[in-house]
Amino acid sequence: MPVKPGPREILESPDCVLCGVSRKRPLFSKPSGRGEHFTLVKCAGCGLKYLSPRPTEEALRSYYQSSYFTKRTDRGYDNYFSSEIRAEVTRVLELNLQDLGFFKYEASLAASRRYLDIGCATGYSVLYMKERGWESIGIDIAGPCIRYGRDNLGLDLIDGDYLTQNFDAPFQLISLWATLEHLHRPDQVVRKIHRDLAPGGRVYLSTCRAGGWMRLFGKNWRYYNFPEHLYYFNWRQLARLMEECGFTVERRAFYGSGVGKPGGPLRKLADRSAKALNLGDMVILSGIK
Ligand SMILES: [Zn+2]
Repeated sequence: MPVKPGPREILESPDCVLCGVSRKRPLFSKPSGRGEHFTLVKCAGCGLKYLSPRPTEEALRSYYQSSYFTKRTDRGYDNYFSSEIRAEVTRVLELNLQDLGFFKYEASLAASRRYLDIGCATGYSVLYMKERGWESIGIDIAGPCIRYGRDNLGLDLIDGDYLTQNFDAPFQLISLWATLEHLHRPDQVVRKIHRDLAPGGRVYLSTCRAGGWMRLFGKNWRYYNFPEHLYYFNWRQLARLMEECGFTVERRAFYGSGVGKPGGPLRKLADRSAKALNLGDMVILSGIK
């Protein structure tokens, strides 16, 4: 008789991905959308905050049904396929690109430019770069989003795991927009990005930021989505990860507030204030190979 896997088979307790230390201190527990409790811990070595124990990579896939992108409001996206969301994603993308000096970098490049977005969802940033003349590719494990982007936006999107992909030519830019916190092995991913870039190529990493407004909201902070979000880096820890993978950190910016409704006037005002005061609860860094 086949035995149903118990909790032990689908959970793992990793060592710190940044410093390798296994000792950690529990901070607090919070239920997932299904009611199981997960615990946020702090590494005794470097202070990185992460979820432990956590579902294995395979077990976590069951949390990413298409409903993650169409139904949930506080955890996923209200309706990722709507034109409002597309406009909002593009607006934030342009602000990020501005902050990272992208347009100057782009102007310095020869005509053949290759862009890869990891965790691309429906591929709105892939579309944006394609329209700017880049050869533009996206990759994600969220099948329904990939199909939407291929069928409705005509994009070159890969349904799969980045770590197992081989590309036939290097990229000038690789991005992870709010994706790093979802990864089981962010160190392996950032190291592979370094390999997949051309010399002088750029990596753009954005993630929810430990510090800033995280403290203000406590347990109710908008990015404490357990177990989908596995890691909570502050900007120094993120910079360390990039440097250890071979990058020179070029620029950083903080943005986002989580106050009011997305796209609404209160949100826009709060976002502008958070940015002006460096309180934003998202961090974005650029690195040069
Ligand atoms: Zn550590």
